[in-house]
Amino acid sequence: MAQSVEIVEVGPRDGFQSVKPFIPTATKISILEKLFAAGLRRVEATSFVSPQALPQLADAAEILAAALGLPALDAQVLVPTARHAARAINARAQHIAFVVSVSDSHNRSNVRRTPAESVAEYATIVAALPVGTKLRLNLATAFDCPFEGKIDEAATLALLDQLVAIAPQAEIALCDTTGRVTPDHVTSLFAKSFARFPQVPGWAFHAHDTYGLGTANTLAAWHAGVRVFDAAIAGLGGCPFAPGATGNVATEDLVWMFNGMNVETGIDIDALVDVAQQVATLPGGQIGGRVRDALAAKSRREKALA
Ligand code: ZN
Repeated sequence: MAQSVEIVEVGPRDGFQSVKPFIPTATKISILEKLFAAGLRRVEATSFVSPQALPQLADAAEILAAALGLPALDAQVLVPTARHAARAINARAQHIAFVVSVSDSHNRSNVRRTPAESVAEYATIVAALPVGTKLRLNLATAFDCPFEGKIDEAATLALLDQLVAIAPQAEIALCDTTGRVTPDHVTSLFAKSFARFPQVPGWAFHAHDTYGLGTANTLAAWHAGVRVFDAAIAGLGGCPFAPGATGNVATEDLVWMFNGMNVETGIDIDALVDVAQQVATLPGGQIGGRVRDALAAKSRREKALA
């Protein structure tokens, strides 16, 4: 049987949130529809956060409604607190992603709470989760923090002890928030996490490409046994709380890599690159990745020869 991976398109959340000029809601929805048409079946569609803190995502309820209208699209929405989780549930969210950082300083600047306070929020969210709602835990700064540097594996595993006890059913994404992790660290932390938490049903890896290691780190996670990977179309992004960070690893770079390895993604690379070309022209967007330019140049050459 062919091997496969699930790619979670996080551009509509991680990517859009770092773009200053407001992207019209209709444009966001049209990008979502094109991503779906290209074969993506799982997205982090938006985030329910304070519209004052993140005006770009003030249209979260409208975006979620549009995402829920696409058949069989698994649309997760990010929430930082129990209050915002309740807003998401009211907007009929079927898949909640909760974010907490391992490092105190990043968690405070990201969600204005200590990690312990966020653990308590998580317990409240889990207790109130409607039956059938899917749950993901996004563990930010699992490897490295913009303020504190490299994070001890012991610190990440100790926080996971508390979080897994609250919701053993949740998928867990270990997030390289800064893009500074190296493949050896990815391999090591996933191996330790698998051994320590055999009850966790699924693990994911969230790569940023700030140092050009997004695909290398993703490959390390793949070899460790991870089969769910976050990526952003056109590598769109940055992080408002991780100075200097660029976007997530580009979705088209991951699809190109896995295609070459004969690992099924379910995604049409040409249709994907067309969306990436559009996203690359969004005013105020910081883009990344290599495959988009390489394939665009190739198609220009082929057209010239035709
Ligand atoms: Zn991120």
